[in-house]
Amino acid sequence: MMLEVKNLEVYYGAIRALQGISFDVREGEIVTLIGANGAGKSTTMRTISGLLVPRNGEIIFRGQKINRIPAHKIVRMGISHVPEGRLIFPNLTVMENLLMGAYTRNNRAEIEENLEEVLSRFPRLRERAKQMAGTLSGGEQQMLAMGRGLMSKPTLLILDEPSMGLSPLLVEEIFEIIKSINQQGTTVLLVEQNAFMALQIAHRAYVLETGRIVLHGTAKELQANPQIRSAYLGEV
Ligand code: ATP
Repeated sequence: MMLEVKNLEVYYGAIRALQGISFDVREGEIVTLIGANGAGKSTTMRTISGLLVPRNGEIIFRGQKINRIPAHKIVRMGISHVPEGRLIFPNLTVMENLLMGAYTRNNRAEIEENLEEVLSRFPRLRERAKQMAGTLSGGEQQMLAMGRGLMSKPTLLILDEPSMGLSPLLVEEIFEIIKSINQQGTTVLLVEQNAFMALQIAHRAYVLETGRIVLHGTAKELQANPQIRSAYLGEV
């Protein structure tokens, strides 16, 4: 098991944003967490990566409990979180942003090799290596955020709403890239409002509603579920 989340409860002051959620991610999978605005998807991701501290529950990553470990150590353990809204550094170049992603590492040769992999995966970033990141298009910024996330050589890549604000064509492209990152051995936890796309590439899915998991199954099962089809896949 790569990641086990058990009875996770997270509060913002008096607001109980996560009401005891449990799910798991196995090695090699793409698991998606789908849900409407405010369901608690980002809260879940931010708690796993150490940015929020849960009130109750456990997060176990490759057999080790990580829910008191600070974010910078969790990155070193192999979890990379590409946040919603991308949060790239707009006044640094594309190359500088990518290298920031490798800040936990110090073997130069390995970093160079990894950089080459990322630039081959995202040729657009190679073309724009010296451009200020803030001047990239939305899709290019998403590629940069994902490229930066890959620069820590994660075992588990957490992607929060990678399709947000992108045109349908770009969404397709980004999802193809996620699929190929997974096929090359990285386990992926994907948070999406775009359930249609997420279920096309995921192995399994969990549905989050107001801080609770209300349904889970294989992506195929959820795609066929009438409740999911009407609530999340836009069918009447
Ligand atoms: P979206 O898709 O809109 O980003 P989400 O599923 O990621 O939604 P969260 O951002 O995890 O949802 O929010 C879950 C709940 O917690 C919401 O009701 C939200 O208003 C609340 N919340 C999130 N961040 C804070 C905060 N910093 N302070 C107080 N409440 C918060």
